[in-house]
Amino acid sequence: MPSRNTIPLVATLIATVACASTSQHQTATPPAPEIATGSQLQAKTAGMEKRDGFIPLYLDAKQGQIYLEIPRDSTRALMFVSLATGLGSNPIGLDRGASGDSYIARFEKNGDHVLVVFENWNYRTSALDNPAHARTVLEAFPPSAAAALPIIAQDGQRLVVDATEFFMRDWNDVTGTITSSNEGSYSVARDRSSIYKPYTKAFPENTEVDVALTFAAQGRAGQIISSIVPDGKSFTLRQHISLLLLPDAGYRPRVLDPRVGYFGIVFKDYAQPIQQPLEQRWIARHRLERVNPADPSSPIRNPLVYYIDRGIPEPIRTATKQGVSWWIEAFDRAGLKGGFRVEDLPEGVDPMDARYNVVQWENRNERGWSVGGALSDPRTGEIIKGMARLDSHRARTDYNIYAGLFGADAAAADTAFVLARVRQVSAHEVGHTLGLSHNYIASTYDRGSVMDYPPPRVTVNASGDIDISSAYAVGPGAYDVFAIHWGYGIFPPESEKDSLRTIVEDGLRRGFLFLSDADARPEFASDPRTNLWDDASTPTRVPAARDGGAESGDIQIRRAQHPRRGADRASSGALRSPLFPAPVRAQFADQDDWWDGVRKRCPWRPRPGDPPYRPGLPARGTGVPDFGARAA
Ligand SMILES: [Zn+2]
Repeated sequence: MPSRNTIPLVATLIATVACASTSQHQTATPPAPEIATGSQLQAKTAGMEKRDGFIPLYLDAKQGQIYLEIPRDSTRALMFVSLATGLGSNPIGLDRGASGDSYIARFEKNGDHVLVVFENWNYRTSALDNPAHARTVLEAFPPSAAAALPIIAQDGQRLVVDATEFFMRDWNDVTGTITSSNEGSYSVARDRSSIYKPYTKAFPENTEVDVALTFAAQGRAGQIISSIVPDGKSFTLRQHISLLLLPDAGYRPRVLDPRVGYFGIVFKDYAQPIQQPLEQRWIARHRLERVNPADPSSPIRNPLVYYIDRGIPEPIRTATKQGVSWWIEAFDRAGLKGGFRVEDLPEGVDPMDARYNVVQWENRNERGWSVGGALSDPRTGEIIKGMARLDSHRARTDYNIYAGLFGADAAAADTAFVLARVRQVSAHEVGHTLGLSHNYIASTYDRGSVMDYPPPRVTVNASGDIDISSAYAVGPGAYDVFAIHWGYGIFPPESEKDSLRTIVEDGLRRGFLFLSDADARPEFASDPRTNLWDDASTPTRVPAARDGGAESGDIQIRRAQHPRRGADRASSGALRSPLFPAPVRAQFADQDDWWDGVRKRCPWRPRPGDPPYRPGLPARGTGVPDFGARAA
């Protein structure tokens, strides 16, 4: 999904393909057959299966071809690229439902072909009343002519083009991903690739094309690939492409405020006054409108609906639905009552259909990321389709944490513990698909956001027993309500700026601070409060509590858990992993989040009485077992 002009919704997935360019996808222009006209169009498409819609489709089952009926020369469309099915490997990362790039595509007649031109929205001018200036920008930065589609028939303005090779192209850069994973060299095997008809459809405002692409090895098969697929020399993935009617001008972009955590788009505006930066940032968010825009009590006209994958097994599915539903409360409390809904994905609907926001189940060979992605309009940042993908190993990981604390006996309590975390991570990933970025400082003000990374809150009670009764937060945090109010609040245009400023000032007064990945992950990250897996109000409180301070620290937890977690209590299948998570929890947090960060990254130094630094523990990326730090 990330592209040059887009702030990615998931910061951990930044490194992917850049925008398509002519050279990247250059192919020889095939000779066009003689163009049929008028009634000949019908003769030309006779026997083909027509799917009428925004851009009608013709399917030639015999030849395995797909044709588009471009309504008229220079038709424009939003084009989304995604991966419908997965390779099943977290290390390689070609996942079911993964969002790719977004383009503004223009279909331009050029002789006996139609060019597919991707417009360049990275460079713009807001001086729309000065066409001469607009021309200086337009002519300074090139578009990409991505393809030339042979015209096979024309009727009036309608142009029927052969788009088979266009759709069969490796739009998700599967081959590049495999190469960069050191899994060898693969390319699309056209003789083993085909249109996938069940999910190739057209609707009034979107045309959906699904193709099964087979990738074949040029030399030796990749090691990981061979361990997953029946024959490592080839595998087949389904690629999905959506062509949508361009959203109308009714959406009002919202300028990013760095004090509130939203992803979005970045572009350069050459009409900005010299005192202002060229670089402009607008947030990513869905369109939300009232029936009567002038009336703040008017109901929401177009509530956001999120659809839950029917394939998620129970009881996780219900917990997922409950967690996603936390956003109902967040929108209600933000003054946008009824602005968010959760439903089951209707039977028969393709989860890749651009009209549906989907929460999807992600099976892989091994534990991996849960991800919140989205496809949006690169001109405005308007999110058109949210896609949250929940890793199916998550519950097992959480069970292992539980078993590390209490032993591996099956109990109702372990299910409750696991489902509490499932609710939290479901809300978290959907938060990303609403445009929200991580907020790692929210844990310093009482679990202020579901967009933080939450360790389980494990304490020891007066009887010396481990207490997980409030292991995970329930419902949206106060910051989340604040962020939705700021990002989705509907205001009259003339007072919008003032309203947004007031919301931020009020939020700051209430302590709703925002610091994100750039403040927490790099070695030079600047603030000791922005740790990924902490649960305390100050940097000094966690280590003090951990080593047996006023609160129940991890030393006490380890004492309390120790007699309970003998190998004899563990089931044989669970022996390998359940026993390590809790014991290393403190080490992981110690080294990675506190001492490593505080000592190396910040001027803050331990004071007399602070617990000692433990140099013998491994640093991040050098062998610390990752027991659950996988909420992307
Ligand atoms: Zn995340």
